[in-house]
Amino acid sequence: MPLYDYRCEQGCGEFRAFRPMAESSRPAPCPQCDRPAARTLAAPMLAGASPGWLGAPPA
Ligand SMILES: [Zn+2]
Repeated sequence: MPLYDYRCEQGCGEFRAFRPMAESSRPAPCPQCDRPAARTLAAPMLAGASPGWLGAPPA
């Protein structure tokens, strides 16, 4: 399942979540405040395609 970047507009900042591709354009619930957060424009990274994402800074 692809990993997408989201940004919570309630002040929680960015987070990443695995989402089905069909739901990638829909907001994901923020893990901190549970409000919908919009996806950022970063290109989706397929899980397992590149192990380097763990060390990549969020911004
Ligand atoms: Zn939040």
